[in-house]
Amino acid sequence: MNLELTEEQKLLQKTVREFAESEVKPLAKELDETGRFPRDTFKKAAELGLTGVAFPEAEGGAGFDHIAYSIVIEEISRCCASTGVILSVQNSLYCDPIHRFGTEEQRKKFLLPFARGEKIGCYALTEPQAGSNAAALQTKAVKNGDKYVINGTKAWITNGGAADATIVYVNTEPAKGEKKSAKKKRSWASTPPLAANWSLPIAKFPPPTASAVKAKATRSRSRRSTAAASVLPRKPPASPKARSKPR
Ligand SMILES: Cc1cc2nc3c(=O)[nH]c(=O)nc-3n(C[C@H](O)[C@H](O)[C@H](O)COP(=O)(O)OP(=O)(O)OC[C@H]3O[C@@H](n4cnc5c(N)ncnc54)[C@H](O)[C@@H]3O)c2cc1C
Repeated sequence: MNLELTEEQKLLQKTVREFAESEVKPLAKELDETGRFPRDTFKKAAELGLTGVAFPEAEGGAGFDHIAYSIVIEEISRCCASTGVILSVQNSLYCDPIHRFGTEEQRKKFLLPFARGEKIGCYALTEPQAGSNAAALQTKAVKNGDKYVINGTKAWITNGGAADATIVYVNTEPAKGEKKSAKKKRSWASTPPLAANWSLPIAKFPPPTASAVKAKATRSRSRRSTAAASVLPRKPPASPKARSKPR
């Protein structure tokens, strides 16, 4: 098995590393101390295509693959774990389910501006009593006409305070769900739980058809050759000395 990065992936790695060193690392300490959401850095990351690395350009993404996405998160997290998780949630927890399971209409509204980084997304699964055991979640969604009314409490939601949209996990039939977790309700030292009381239109996520999957594979093959354009280095190449520097 060839584990070497391709030339395109190496170029991406170098670009993201320069960005992380110059724009992300200087803020890392302050972000961890204050909990501030780094909107300016998020915007700059979006300009490089880092808010939608592995999504098609037609859906607002940079058109790379998942190895490229891993490189991005590795390089950003190397300089700031908080910024790394912000971008990871935007890409993989928020955008990816909509890319995979959303309708065309949902992708247009809830993926395109998010993959472009014009909007911020989050993913609300964890609750005070439901972490690894997601089946114990208690947030309820009750159908009311063409909407669901959602009541519950979520915790540890990355991007939660800044997000324009949330993928929220709910239980529509609490009676059929797992019985209340035996785990005790925890007390929250620094991150307050998010109390939810939303009213959302009913989302329809049809399973992808075989023809849609095949068409997607064809689209991503034809895209790969042009994908590097959005993250090509904007600065002159680093000196040979800097390139050989160990990580
Ligand atoms: C930086 C960060 C960002 C996060 N962002 C989000 C977010 O954006 N959205 C969101 O929904 N959640 C988020 N979370 C929450 C995260 O998903 C949960 O912390 C995770 O699911 C684990 O749940 P828990 O903390 O309740 O741990 P627990 O479920 O209490 O687990 C504690 C320990 O017990 C182990 N364990 C649990 N069950 C079993 C079992 N059956 N057998 C053996 N071992 C077991 C676990 O592996 C773990 O080591 C975030 C957490 C962190 C740290």
